[in-house]
Amino acid sequence: MKILIVYAHPEPRSLNAALRDVATKALTAQGHDVQVSDLYAEGWKSQVDRADFPSLATEERLVATAASKKDFEAGTLTEDVRVEIEKLLWADALILQFPLWWFSMPAILKGWVDRVFAYGFAYGVGEHSDRRWGDRYGEGTLAGKRAMLIVTAGGWEEHYGPRGINGPIDDLLFPINHGILYYPGYEVLPPFVIYRADRFDECKFEPVAERLRERMQSLFSIPPIPYRPQNAGDYLIPSMQLRSELGEENASGFSLHLDRDNERRSLAGPGRNGTQNSG
Ligand code: FAD
Repeated sequence: MKILIVYAHPEPRSLNAALRDVATKALTAQGHDVQVSDLYAEGWKSQVDRADFPSLATEERLVATAASKKDFEAGTLTEDVRVEIEKLLWADALILQFPLWWFSMPAILKGWVDRVFAYGFAYGVGEHSDRRWGDRYGEGTLAGKRAMLIVTAGGWEEHYGPRGINGPIDDLLFPINHGILYYPGYEVLPPFVIYRADRFDECKFEPVAERLRERMQSLFSIPPIPYRPQNAGDYLIPSMQLRSELGEENASGFSLHLDRDNERRSLAGPGRNGTQNSG
């Protein structure tokens, strides 16, 4: 299988770099092909601006969505973006790896998403009518592929627990997992999170490296997070509200978009979001 790691850390001797190497070696040892987009090393341009849209006339007002659509369809997006799009189409699995900075990804990685997830490629895909709201949330260009996060955090695991002051880690990562990865179709795997990363030393490293090797072993078999697909009947169109009879009573927020029944089915055997892409 083919795996793309999009990696965002400015220091080649960092903990993140060491963990990236562990993941890469583990995947390569299993016979997979691995490519790494090392955003800092490559000097990735993170901001969206006029320079991204070669066919935009000088006097024309920049509307980023419209310009993205036009240049994506014409194949005229800038070469750095086209190369990353080709890598995404090539890869069976995508890994985003980064240190948690202000409860999210470093700006350079967000800028990679902003520029590479073009209109017509990652959004604005599929039939948009009173029956379907486009191909997104489980459907879309990247459907059938898997994605996951490898994240280091300075905070304690308890601080990211269900009652922790930082908020639950699954909620903090929801905009990335659901909004960025599930949106264009990826099956999203549970994240691999390393807590108290600033306190790391040699004796803490090896057990974490071993857990990471194990996660790389199960990249194509572990059940994904059971997000609800948009177009399978769980949501009303056009309001895109979850049907009132679904979700646990009085539940609200991000967890509503998890299909717990489907999760139970997929743990018991192949299911809607289950193991169809294992291999
Ligand atoms: P490094 O600094 O490279 O290393 C961390 C430790 O691991 C060091 O002690 C180092 O000696 C050791 N180490 C490195 N490599 C190895 C190796 N190969 N073997 C053994 N030990 C090794 N944290 C949060 O929880 N929430 C936040 O919102 C948050 N926001 C932040 C915002 C900013 C701008 C910054 C700079 C930090 C923030 N942090 C936050 C902390 C951040 O998440 C951690 O600093 C980061 O995850 C640590 O990863 P690193 O790769 O940078 O570690």
